[in-house]
Formats: sequence, C-alpha cells, structure tokens
Amino acid sequence: MPAEEVFIALGSNLGDSITIVEQALQALDNIGRCRLLARSSLYRSEAIGDIPQDDYINAVARIETSLEPMALLLELQAIEHAYYRNRENAERWAPRTLDLDIVLFGNRQMNDSHLTIPHPEFSRRRFVLEPMFEIGGDRFIAGYGSLSYLIDKADALRMEKLERTDA
Ligand code: AMP
Repeated sequence: MPAEEVFIALGSNLGDSITIVEQALQALDNIGRCRLLARSSLYRSEAIGDIPQDDYINAVARIETSLEPMALLLELQAIEHAYYRNRENAERWAPRTLDLDIVLFGNRQMNDSHLTIPHPEFSRRRFVLEPMFEIGGDRFIAGYGSLSYLIDKADALRMEKLERTDA
C-alpha cells in the first residue's frame, strides 16, 4: 500500500504535559511503517467545557504511513497507554494524560464504531487548526473548506504558542 499523509492531534493536561507531548511526538516516529514529516510548536490552550481543569498542551504532527487507519489507531492507543503504565500511582492519571487523535488520513472519509475520519471535531478546534496551518500551510479539505477559512470561524478559546526549544 502506498504511504499516505496523516495529521495527528496531540493533547495533554495532566502530569508534565510538555514532556509527555514531546515524547509522544518522538514515539510517532518510532512506530513501524510511520515516519514523522513535521511537527508543530507546542500550544497552551484553554480546556473546552464547563469543568474547571488545567490548560492543555497541544500539538499536531504530520506523518507518512503505510498502515491502515485502524492499525494506526491501535499504535496510537498503545502510546497513550504507555503513559498510564509508567506512573507509580495509576489512579491519579485520568485519560487526558495523553490523547492522540487522527485528524486527517489522506483524503479518506470513514465512519465506523472505532473511527471517524476526518475527526468529527477538528474543524471547530483552533488548537488543532492553527498547528496544522503552522506545519502544512493553508490547504483545502474536502467537505470543509480551507484551513484559513476554518480558523476564522473556529472557537475563541484562549490559546498561546509556546517558544520552541528544539529548533
Ligand atoms: P477520546 O479519548 O475521547 O478521544 O476517544 C477515544 C475513542 O475515540 C477511541 O476509542 C476511538 O475508537 C474513537 N475515535 C473515533 N474517531 C477517532 C479518530 N479520528 N481518532 C482517534 N480516535 C477516534
């Protein structure tokens, strides 16, 4: 199967989120049949919803993979789970220690019990759209419009780009 370009959104708001997201970006490059093409800066963003909680650290990665979407999802879930296992007190770590979502997978569209692609929320989330724009520039997404158009309409939650220390 030829490689396809995939955008993955990363988020964390529990634990040492900056380190967790940085390590998860590296882990994406270590998945078999995956190559990390680009990664965004880290962004600090206000959590969605009414539950008081810490800000999130978010980023987006652009990878190339010859895995099928479901196989990639299982790899992403294995990376997520590594962060529960490695903690001394697993109870303290809620699911948002690390969240990895497949945003776009080539031009594919799918909707089954495990996967909806494009991700159902991406087009409203500034913390996904702006990092995508940063690493991929403007692009047209079938059924949605251009990234710049979506950014104009996206949520108005507080968000700040963090200085990159690796560049
Ligand atoms: P959450 O932890 O709230 O992000 O939900 C995780 C669940 O969302 C997983 O069990 C996946 O099967 C499902 N899911 C549906 N579409 C996607 C997607 N595009 N990327 C990642 N997970 C997805």
